Amino acid sequence: MQDTQIETLQNIFGAENVLCEKEDRIVYSYDASPVEIIPEAVIFATTTEQISELMKFAYRENIAVTPRGQGSGLSGGSIPKEAGIVLCMDKMNRILEIDPENRLITVEAGLTTSEIDLAVAEFNLFYPPDPGSVGFSSIGGNVAENAGGLRGLKYGVTKDYVKEMKVVLPQGEIVTIGSKCVKHVAGFNMEGVFVGSEGMLGIMTEVTLALLPIPKHRESGLALFDTMKDAAKSVSGIIAAGVTPSTMEFIDNVTINAIQDFKDCGLPRDAAAVLLIETDGEEHSCKAEMAEVEKVLAANNVRSFQRAASSAERDALFAGRRVALNALASVKPNLILEDATVLRSKLPEIVASVTEIAEKYQLQVGIFGHAGDGNLHPTFLIDFKNEDEVRRTHEAVKELFARAIELGGTISGEHGVGLEKKPFLKDQIGNEGIALLQAVKKTLDPKNLLNPGKMFDMPEDMAQAV
Ligand SMILES: Cc1cc2nc3c(=O)[nH]c(=O)nc-3n(C[C@H](O)[C@H](O)[C@H](O)COP(=O)(O)OP(=O)(O)OC[C@H]3O[C@@H](n4cnc5c(N)ncnc54)[C@H](O)[C@@H]3O)c2cc1C
Repeated sequence: MQDTQIETLQNIFGAENVLCEKEDRIVYSYDASPVEIIPEAVIFATTTEQISELMKFAYRENIAVTPRGQGSGLSGGSIPKEAGIVLCMDKMNRILEIDPENRLITVEAGLTTSEIDLAVAEFNLFYPPDPGSVGFSSIGGNVAENAGGLRGLKYGVTKDYVKEMKVVLPQGEIVTIGSKCVKHVAGFNMEGVFVGSEGMLGIMTEVTLALLPIPKHRESGLALFDTMKDAAKSVSGIIAAGVTPSTMEFIDNVTINAIQDFKDCGLPRDAAAVLLIETDGEEHSCKAEMAEVEKVLAANNVRSFQRAASSAERDALFAGRRVALNALASVKPNLILEDATVLRSKLPEIVASVTEIAEKYQLQVGIFGHAGDGNLHPTFLIDFKNEDEVRRTHEAVKELFARAIELGGTISGEHGVGLEKKPFLKDQIGNEGIALLQAVKKTLDPKNLLNPGKMFDMPEDMAQAV
């Protein structure tokens, strides 16, 4: 970028909020996916108005802008594909209003997700979506990716809690989308368009989220299985029995051993798979639901079911699941983590397919994830220096996505498309689906300057970012 352009940015944001040194820019060149592209400048916003000015300037000067929350994304969403400016949201991290009467909280988009629960606990409220990254991801990043979490089975995902948003559009207009009311049908459901828009349609600066009362009671347990098939069959069996646990997480043997090597969480190294199950609500209903769960587990050859007798024991059970990805990351130099998702009833088929595919391509894979949502994370453990292993992994991933689509599933349950799954989106939604996405993008961002190069390519005739 030219010196005069940097000066303009410094005038808008203050010199202390504009980073141009290469060492600083490298820090913002990657997220939790395996891609790296160094931006030309990194800026930190503190107000919505600054971001509006930035987008007007970027549009005048044809500069690409990539929004960034905490960079924990797993699909390359905050990687600046066209270099340009990385816009960091983490200084916009204030809680603006807590409204217990209407069970709402309004926050700036850069706030870390777990801060919400800490702030509303005194009102006996909680914010249900709890991605594994809850302690470090931002709420803006969660909205942009429609993040899911461990409680998704019973409580849904981010889109189910977004009520109202303040958004800066690609050409700098500031709009408020949605409503704080329980019901509203005034206009299109624009919240639905912006949730999951991966930073490509606008920059969320403020978000109002719905909250729920903290459940009075929880029952938690860990089911051990000698085959992955029995664990997978138990998941659909529990749902078919009419029980909706708040959590039903799957961890396979490779992941169990990676966790135990990383940190002793008391997981049984010899189990083929475990299911971490929790029910919540009134004490009597939690206990009745767990009794039903135990019947289904017994019918599916469970080896044992360890019930947590205290919240300390419960936290210990969850600790292993929370470090699963970090643990797998320490097994080999690199990993490729996927989140193909299927109907819950198809879980046994997709688990079997992952194993078959890994065997076919002679790859080491760990499987864990939100089994109750049909959302598993097959994680291929590889070394990027081994070109043949990388090639085999790409083939395996291609086959995995084809299988998920064949089973009526999706290439991504929660991590988004970004750069990582861009080559596969057309297989799922077809040319017509891509054309619809392009039309929405072109309407809001005719120069393709906001987070360009993600999710899908734009038709050739569009002006390209520089
Ligand atoms: C250990 C680990 C566990 C994880 N567990 C889960 C999980 O259980 N469930 C899950 O869904 N994900 C999970 N993730 C993935 C990741 O944490 C989520 O996708 C999260 O929502 C990203 O938030 P972020 O603030 O880091 O966003 P970033 O990675 O910085 O950005 C993600 C996308 O959002 C856009 N964006 C960010 N902020 C804004 C904004 N204010 N306005 C517009 N666009 C914006 C970016 O441009 C980018 O496209 C996990 C990641 C890790 C590393």
